[in-house]
Amino acid sequence: MTAVDDVSHDPIVYLNGELVPLSEARVPVLDRGFIFGDGIYEVAPLYAGHAGRRTPFRFEQHLARLARSVGKIGIANPFDDAGWRSLIARVVAANEAHAGLRADQDAIAYIQVTRGVAKRGHAFPAGIQPTVFVMVTPLNLPSETQRAQGVRCVTAEDRRWLNCDIKSVSLLGNVLMAQYAAENDAFETIQFRDGVLTEGSSSNVWVVKDGVLAAPPRSHKILEGIRYGLIEALAQECGIRFEAREISEAELRAADEIIVSSATKEVLPVTQLDGQAVGKGRPGAVFAALYAGYQRAKAKEAQHAQQGVENESRENITA
Ligand code: PMP
Repeated sequence: MTAVDDVSHDPIVYLNGELVPLSEARVPVLDRGFIFGDGIYEVAPLYAGHAGRRTPFRFEQHLARLARSVGKIGIANPFDDAGWRSLIARVVAANEAHAGLRADQDAIAYIQVTRGVAKRGHAFPAGIQPTVFVMVTPLNLPSETQRAQGVRCVTAEDRRWLNCDIKSVSLLGNVLMAQYAAENDAFETIQFRDGVLTEGSSSNVWVVKDGVLAAPPRSHKILEGIRYGLIEALAQECGIRFEAREISEAELRAADEIIVSSATKEVLPVTQLDGQAVGKGRPGAVFAALYAGYQRAKAKEAQHAQQGVENESRENITA
């Protein structure tokens, strides 16, 4: 297989109005994303669906967060929701047609918007166009083993800035935390700020004690994952009590279950924290209920997408 046959090596990407192979995509060095980390991004799963119909999962919420992110840093949203949807569909179609993304492969859409290119100077330059980049690549979900056995995590002090609610490409703090996990043979680093749980380097963190699920409240100290609202809804659906509240380091260490969530991890059980077993050292009942609920939510969205297609074709027939 050549690099071009394999979408994970050389996908077709969108950059500022053009579809090009990733290996040929270029931005000028004066792009403020490169110079200042002045930009935002979004990561959304696109699940392989029935009859080759790909289903963006909770896409409305991902696009709403993208709109909030650009809004928070004063960049005009380059597209409205319909524009983003058709752009992603174009990139998906290009990869299915030319770059080897199979219709039965789950995929992930990476979207990045930076303030654009300008002479170097910290404050916002006037009259520049944002840089827009979209990449669609296969999504590798956690393995069966990781789900069945849980993953190991380590902990560290959260030393990031205090605008963690912005999905900024300035990710050095998160990069250092991910590296800390890698160096300690762990899956993720779970962070505390002044003894209070915040989040992972690239995931939200959930704690279970005596059957009650808890997570840090939405605030500037964490990124509100698109799974946050989903897990709240799943907990309610499953009759699991949920509390959004401050969680101390001691509480985390005494938890019956710890769960991490993100677009690429879905929900995943943490069974070891800093070398100590979490609860009984195996995935718990709340994780099992949330994981099953998550898969039901995926199936429901796929079914809606399929019904949409059937309704469309019925309309076409009757039109
Ligand atoms: N927190 C951080 C710091 C993250 O990077 C992510 C992943 N984007 C999340 C939380 C989870 O967000 P989501 O559920 O939207 O993937």
